[in-house]
Amino acid sequence: MDYDVIIIGGGPAGLTAGIYASRARLKTLIVESFSVPCQAVTTDHIENYPGFPDGVNGFELIEKFKKQAGKFGTEFIAAEVREIKEAKPGWQILTEDKAYTASSIIIAAGASPKRLDVPGEDKFRGRGVSYCGTCDGALFKNKEIVVVGGGDTALEEALFLTRFVKKATVIHRRNVLRGTKILQERAFADKKIEFAWDSVVTEITGAAKVAGVKIKNVKTNAMTDFSCDGVFIFAGYKPNTDFLKGAVPLDEAGYIISDDNCLTSKAGIFACGDCRKKLLRQVVTACGEGATAAFSCRHYLER
Ligand code: NAP
Repeated sequence: MDYDVIIIGGGPAGLTAGIYASRARLKTLIVESFSVPCQAVTTDHIENYPGFPDGVNGFELIEKFKKQAGKFGTEFIAAEVREIKEAKPGWQILTEDKAYTASSIIIAAGASPKRLDVPGEDKFRGRGVSYCGTCDGALFKNKEIVVVGGGDTALEEALFLTRFVKKATVIHRRNVLRGTKILQERAFADKKIEFAWDSVVTEITGAAKVAGVKIKNVKTNAMTDFSCDGVFIFAGYKPNTDFLKGAVPLDEAGYIISDDNCLTSKAGIFACGDCRKKLLRQVVTACGEGATAAFSCRHYLER
């Protein structure tokens, strides 16, 4: 057996599981995706993670988690997990070029931004279409952009993007925002942020790069051509669980079903963080579940 536990995912959940598993003296490997960064890494400012009254940059926080896990002996590789297979005993994970065996697996694969699935979205990705303000905001200095979505991410990112842009128009499909009240208050107070209510983007237009969006008012069906240089899409997330291919039960949206102790219905496979079916997806809840998953895993291995 190569490892006591392999943790799939290097975000807050996976790294906390790594800290707890390594401190329990389990031989631990974290497999981090090189193509899908965890959401915290691309978050400029996290202000509700306890212990940081002035907020903390997501990248810096994750670097600290990683250092802490490494300090206790967690090993890391960057690879894409393609499949989990039963190895009898234990489990095998297959990456693109290698297989690893472990007595147990903790899945902390996170979630990725949802696409709008409208014409132009693929064509202009990286040429005006973005899913990450922290990554791409600086490219839009003094430009006009639209932000699609009405949740915490859309509001937080719109507020962040006002550091760069001339104007950000939040396009939301309802007339009530989903995001937390404190973010709503800040967004409403920000002179650079405007709102297009009851509206959806039906197409992203341009030639070599984004030049505008077509917007439909869902109440009146009226169509508007809206000029902008960038389209930032924050329409929620979908779990990164496609690679599981039935290895563990998922709900209808693809989230992993597990019990209060993070155990899935497969003995030796645990789930934590944003890929797990649950109520609240935050850095702090991901960390709590990472600790629970590693603790449950240790008990499973001791039994
Ligand atoms: P979310 O809460 O699921 O919100 C997604 C938003 O996109 C909603 O407003 C939704 O509209 C809209 N939307 C979904 N599909 C759409 C489509 N096809 N076209 C247009 N609009 C669409 O996602 P999120 O904002 O990324 O947040 C995810 C989780 O992370 C939440 O639990 C959130 O609280 C948490 N989070 C927390 C913080 C924080 O605490 N500081 C920061 C970021 C995220 P409807 O409202 O009509 O459904």
